[in-house]
Amino acid sequence: MHIQIQCCGVVLMLVLFYFYMRQKRIALESQKAFLGVFWASLICIVFDIFSIIVIEYRHVLSEPFAKFVAKTYLITLLGVAISALAYVYVDIYPKKKDYWHDFRKYAVLWVIGAIGTYAVPLYYNYSADGTEVLYTYGPSVYVTYGVSLVFFVRIFYLIKKEKAKINPRRREAVCIWLVAWIVASQIQFMYTNLLIVGYAGSIGIMVLYLKLENPETNLDRSTGLFNSGALYQYTQQFFARERDFSILVVIFESNAYQNVHLEKREGIRMEIIEYLLKLPHVLAFKNAEDEYVLLFEAQENAGAAVEEIRSRFRSGWGMNRDSIVRPHWLYLPHANVVDQTENLLYLVRYIRQEEREFFENDFFCIGKDSVDKMRREREVEQLIIDAIENDRVEVFYQPIFSTSEQHITSAEALVRIRDREDKIVPPGVFIDTAEESGMILKLGEIVFEKVCGFIRNHPLEQFGMHYIEVNLSVVQCAYENLAQDYINIMKRYDVDPKYINLEITESASTNAKKTLLGNMEKLMEYGVHFSLDDFGTGQSNLNYIVDMPVDIVKFDRSMTNSYFENGKAKYVMEAAIHMIHGMNLEIVSEGIETKEQYQTMEDLGISHIQGYYFSKPLPEDEFIAFLEKNQTRQGA
Ligand code: C2E
Ligand code: MG
Ligand code: MG
Repeated sequence: MHIQIQCCGVVLMLVLFYFYMRQKRIALESQKAFLGVFWASLICIVFDIFSIIVIEYRHVLSEPFAKFVAKTYLITLLGVAISALAYVYVDIYPKKKDYWHDFRKYAVLWVIGAIGTYAVPLYYNYSADGTEVLYTYGPSVYVTYGVSLVFFVRIFYLIKKEKAKINPRRREAVCIWLVAWIVASQIQFMYTNLLIVGYAGSIGIMVLYLKLENPETNLDRSTGLFNSGALYQYTQQFFARERDFSILVVIFESNAYQNVHLEKREGIRMEIIEYLLKLPHVLAFKNAEDEYVLLFEAQENAGAAVEEIRSRFRSGWGMNRDSIVRPHWLYLPHANVVDQTENLLYLVRYIRQEEREFFENDFFCIGKDSVDKMRREREVEQLIIDAIENDRVEVFYQPIFSTSEQHITSAEALVRIRDREDKIVPPGVFIDTAEESGMILKLGEIVFEKVCGFIRNHPLEQFGMHYIEVNLSVVQCAYENLAQDYINIMKRYDVDPKYINLEITESASTNAKKTLLGNMEKLMEYGVHFSLDDFGTGQSNLNYIVDMPVDIVKFDRSMTNSYFENGKAKYVMEAAIHMIHGMNLEIVSEGIETKEQYQTMEDLGISHIQGYYFSKPLPEDEFIAFLEKNQTRQGA
């Protein structure tokens, strides 16, 4: 009897099973499918041994019984094949309904294969002296191999077709496992007394276990809590089944431990982790260095549990309960306000960064409002990314009229985005998001390149224009390389810097004054001029203008408007005009819409006027047409 190799296989699998069961596990679908494969393989190898014994003693136990057991072993082989297929389906399709229909067809095939294996004959192949059965063959074996082949082909086809959906490590492990099976059965076919298929199957299971299904890979080593990978897979399962759950995020920033002595900290931290691990009906995950996620499947109890956990924290830690740790809490009663794990994690990050209320209080309950706000911001972010990638950033130009020269002498470049429906989106919708995400750096550069391209293609002087004003965001002003990048662009487009006037705002200098001044100095040395935008909206500190090397001050629309509406504002603006002129600076008045407003500004001695009275911001071609119509071509 050659059963030694099979027995080794059984021992190997039992050892694996022992380790598997001893570990802390989480109910992941893939692990259930793995257990399916494990049991199918173990049953198969046990039946392999059993059938060899029964055949050996067939004269005692009866011939039909021996054949029945031998055929049952063949059917368990089919069981391994279908469990392998189920394992691959579960991994590729998170929703049962996406694969169940397909899988059912193979389950029927399995039943047909099993009936077929029992129904057709099975023969023995004897050793030369005719005393020992070496192996079985005949129609029953061919049915088993034929049906298994269908399963294997389906598995390889699925792995190839759904390559993008299957985790590459899982793909590799499943392939190793199946190839081990196929190679072993080929060897056994050629060397019939080497009964190694069952053993190869158990080696394959070990590969699967070590590479993928070791529950330890779901644990965080330092705390013993489940890790972020487990959080991802587990919550994704809930979303796939459209089941709601609640989470409580506990954030231990360093200031959470304000009252805890440094040397006591580690001990207290472990005490807290111990407490989280033992919480009943709660799964605790460590998501980031300072962030723990508690997941409640039974939502109806979540609110009370959250209260209890928070009150435990209030009662203190350590021997004398004198160490008070005050984490920040984010509570999401209904995780189904989002639809997948990526969005759930994004939501948590978003609230941590964006929600003012979260900073001010230590507890924040995430409601639908926050989710809607996040969604809108994500949409805007996507809009900007799309526009940058697909060249849908456009620059509009709004003419600026000189009261002394009595024609358009400059224009302000204003960014626009064209969305997928070809609609123009104004900067009010996306500038804040672009600044927060840092994408304003790229957006600003694109605008500046387009302006330089415009100046190169349409020499300004032929229209009697002197320069174009380009807005700089606070974020750009605080960017160390801004000056060099802009100088490089001007060089690349062969644009004389005298045609460029950059608009900065008061808030830019409160943010990073040193960097801003460094950038301004370099650019001015190169020949660029500057304006101060938005005057009249912030503090509008006149001392500030003294400090800033600007040539022009731009009065914001709100300031010019209040001049016409509010008696006192009149005096403020007149005083400001007086002082700015005293400093030898020019003024641009924005938001002038009527002839009367224009006349008043001219009478006040303001040198430049910008507003709908002359024109709204225009796309490049319309702006050229506007200039051609309204300006006498210089030198023409
Ligand atoms: P801003 O730099 O103060 O630009 C003037 C804004 O006032 C423009 O709005 C312009 O269309 C509007 N405006 C001008 N005259 C009138 C008028 O008579 N009536 C009314 N109702 N509005 C008038 P826009 O284009 O929507 O831009 C808004 C703001 O977005 C700009 O204010 C600027 O802060 C920012 N922005 C625009 N383009 C850029 C850019 O390329 N980069 C950066 N960083 N910011 C930009
Ligand atoms: Mg501006
Ligand atoms: Mg302005």
